[in-house]
Amino acid sequence: MRQSRRISTLNGDGDDGWGLFIEARRMIGNGVDVTELTIGEHDIRTDAQILEAMHASASAGNTGYAMIPGIDALRDKVAERVTERSGLKTTRDNVMITPGGQAALFMAHHAACDEGDRALFIDPYYATYPGTIRSVGAVPVPVKARSAHGFQPDPAEIAKLASGAKSLLINSPNNPTGAVYGAETMDGIARVVQDHDLWLISDEVYDTQVWEGPHISPRTLPGMAERTLQIGSLSKSHAMTGSRCGWIVAPEAVTENLIQLATNTNYGVAGFVQSAGLFALELGEAFEARIAEPFRRRRGLVMDLVAAQQVVRAIPAQGAMYAMLDIRATGMSGEDFAFALLKAHQIAVMPGESFGQAAAGHIRVALTVDDDRLRAAVATLLDFARERAEAAQN
Ligand code: PMP
Repeated sequence: MRQSRRISTLNGDGDDGWGLFIEARRMIGNGVDVTELTIGEHDIRTDAQILEAMHASASAGNTGYAMIPGIDALRDKVAERVTERSGLKTTRDNVMITPGGQAALFMAHHAACDEGDRALFIDPYYATYPGTIRSVGAVPVPVKARSAHGFQPDPAEIAKLASGAKSLLINSPNNPTGAVYGAETMDGIARVVQDHDLWLISDEVYDTQVWEGPHISPRTLPGMAERTLQIGSLSKSHAMTGSRCGWIVAPEAVTENLIQLATNTNYGVAGFVQSAGLFALELGEAFEARIAEPFRRRRGLVMDLVAAQQVVRAIPAQGAMYAMLDIRATGMSGEDFAFALLKAHQIAVMPGESFGQAAAGHIRVALTVDDDRLRAAVATLLDFARERAEAAQN
């Protein structure tokens, strides 16, 4: 049977760029001791007290259909958090709870785009972005950000592609680059989206991992609340990746339609997960800082190691749980470098090319193993890069 064009072309050209990750997993399956610096998953599990809250809720009978937009108390808590951190008054009617940030990205594009509409996003990008855009029938249009500018997007480049487009997706703090968009970048983005009447979809799932701040939420900029769909999640902030609990903050009229979309797709988030999510948010900022701390420390460790040599250049990691390294001095592509490193030293990093053309010749190191192992792996990686650069010159 022929499947729909939409579902059979989600990956575009077919290569989703995850070959290295699959190869690393295969090696691990064969018993090889691979240092895994590929995906953005904490090296700790969800905190026991959050699991206890989840268990208590389920045991008390909270296992039926939950409120589709989210339980009132959790929507209120998210609204309060957004109000406190952004200064912009936000209520329950602006908030819908979703099965993680990924579902929120899908639903936000559903709200913004019709079939065939052009949807802009910044390259380098989180791996799912183009497929998410295609899944709503829209056409993904990458806007390249430059390594030499620390991967801060240039509003003038966005403007060149904005005519007739419907939406722009941004992500600060950024995966994969670690960039945190500054005031100049955000003001420029706000201007472009208003000039071209675009929706701004702002993926802020790393908002608790900001090392060089401040984190600017573009919804707070003048004229932006009415056109911004802000995405949040407990995955990164509370080490709850498997719980699938996130949200969209949107104008009330959009929330009303998103609730219809949820009713006809995922039918909401499990009630006991929402109870645990509420409990987690009530733990407050000190808990979030504790979850973020290892990444702050490891980012410093990697930046120091890179600063002590000349071959590899680091993109300043201002936020999130990654370090993006420019390995072009080796003369290799990110993909060739990553595969050669995996083969020679059993260290798995993501090729920049997995995150778009703008990250070619780079690799992304996830800061997701303990400090000693990370230090040893990055030292080996830097030596390997030096050897390759020397070989390329001879
Ligand atoms: N956005 C970005 C930039 C991400 O890196 C991720 C997860 N790696 C997500 C969204 C989705 O996260 P989740 O669905 O777990 O909330």
